[in-house]
Amino acid sequence: MTEDKFDAVSGMDVPRFAGIATFMRLPHVMLDEAEGVDIGLIGIPWDGGTTNRPGPRHGPRQMRDQSSMIRRVHHLTGKSPFDQARIADLGDCPVNPIDVIDALARIEQHYHKLLDKNIIPLSAGGDHLCSLPVLRALAKKHGPLGMIHFDAHSDLWDNYFGGFKFTHGTPFARAIEEKILDPGRVVQIGLRGSVYDMEDREFGEKQGVRMINIEEFHRLGIEETMAIARSIVDDQKTYVSFDIDCLDPAFAPGTGTPEIGGFTNREALYMLRKLHGLNIVGADVVEVSPPFDPSGYTALNAVTMMFEILCVMAENIETAQSGK
Ligand code: MN
Ligand code: MN
Repeated sequence: MTEDKFDAVSGMDVPRFAGIATFMRLPHVMLDEAEGVDIGLIGIPWDGGTTNRPGPRHGPRQMRDQSSMIRRVHHLTGKSPFDQARIADLGDCPVNPIDVIDALARIEQHYHKLLDKNIIPLSAGGDHLCSLPVLRALAKKHGPLGMIHFDAHSDLWDNYFGGFKFTHGTPFARAIEEKILDPGRVVQIGLRGSVYDMEDREFGEKQGVRMINIEEFHRLGIEETMAIARSIVDDQKTYVSFDIDCLDPAFAPGTGTPEIGGFTNREALYMLRKLHGLNIVGADVVEVSPPFDPSGYTALNAVTMMFEILCVMAENIETAQSGK
């Protein structure tokens, strides 16, 4: 059992609508005082990489609010991640809403500090460009990572607007170029929708990225898809990135680039449970855009996905922290 100070406030003690919203009703701990925290839930309130409909800068706040719905025990395992690891809300990462390059530097810097304390980050975006500085920091500590990436989009484009290299459509092209992702250990699941051309696919294929279209997912089924994903990342260090637009817009309308024909929330939950036992050194859930879903239902889906990821991270926390 972990100390009570890292436990979530129960809705049986304080009603869920009361109090200051933190992720999953966990204690808010400033990073400077976060010694002993195993897994840090952290917001990245930044959407400077967005090319179309903005708004994920507001994601962490709405996700904290909706996360008051999360109770401490997983109904299938009977276990609580809050018993298996010391987990806290580390607040929001410093950002610069008006300068992309400076924001990337600030985010990376903050994650270096977090990683120096041996904290495993589970981040709430922010747009998908947020993953790049996080991966930069992680790779500096661990070397090139594998990645299981749930998304309607590959995010492997080279540039937008005549040469601009840093958007939420380009993070993983940059990460492969910078050798912070090992492309042979990257799998993308749920790709679909119309595209500008086939450049992103050709780049990914040439690099050895395994791209699973939604059609292939439906042919394979959940078990086989995740067996493939697990064999690709193997037992090596792995990042998990969950773009909420992998869900069908029926479940996640509050996002910048919706694509119809996506996963149901149930399919996504089942897939995330299949991450158990993997060597996950960090994860994120990104692209929740509250202005496009003031109901908060998209954010509820997002934080429930966070909880599933947190459960598999917490049960394997010793491996993730051992540096193996
Ligand atoms: Mn994405
Ligand atoms: Mn996407």
